[in-house]
Amino acid sequence: MIGILLIGPPGAGKGTQAALLATRYSIPAISTGDIFRKNVADETPLGVEAKGYMDRGEYVPDSLTNALVKDRLSQSDVLNGFLLDGYPRTLDQVEKLDEFLAQSGTKLDVVVQLTADREELVSRLANRAEQQGRTDDTPEVIRKRQTIYEQQTAPLIDVYASRSLVAKVDGLGEVNVVTARISEVLNARGLSEDA
Ligand code: AMP
Repeated sequence: MIGILLIGPPGAGKGTQAALLATRYSIPAISTGDIFRKNVADETPLGVEAKGYMDRGEYVPDSLTNALVKDRLSQSDVLNGFLLDGYPRTLDQVEKLDEFLAQSGTKLDVVVQLTADREELVSRLANRAEQQGRTDDTPEVIRKRQTIYEQQTAPLIDVYASRSLVAKVDGLGEVNVVTARISEVLNARGLSEDA
């Protein structure tokens, strides 16, 4: 059982790395952003509710987000472990995740903090806007998402650092180089790929 959490500002490369690491460690990558986008595309009640917040670059309310993750983490493919990408993002979400993991007898092993400077983030997001056409990658909404990240999510790093869980990884460089850096910190913590 291995519990990994990826945290970092919009554009740091969390989604890309989450997918690669999930394959490598044979655990599901659980991306709340992806799950919300799928629900928006399918026009489910959750999607209809989430869409406005997402388009404005705001966080979907904790109650909805926590319920979604609790449900996802209860599925059978999580038996080997999980990799959370983009959750938790608020202190309330940290609390709810703690409660859920305690109840299910699991825990987080490491919080990988992906870093990148602001200029790099802006240019990556501009590229992504062209390639993927995400409705929340406009310059105005990007700025809003960065601000909300700084205000609500960056403080979570201190919370996890106080539990000695944070491994800081430079997110700058080629995708496979960044993956190798992450593997290195995971190995250093005794998390092997065949765990
Ligand atoms: P992401 O793909 O992780 O950048 O997420 C895209 C959008 O989905 C965010 O800007 C939020 O509107 C919403 N979202 C994703 N994860 C969360 C979360 N943990 N809490 C609240 N909103 C979220």
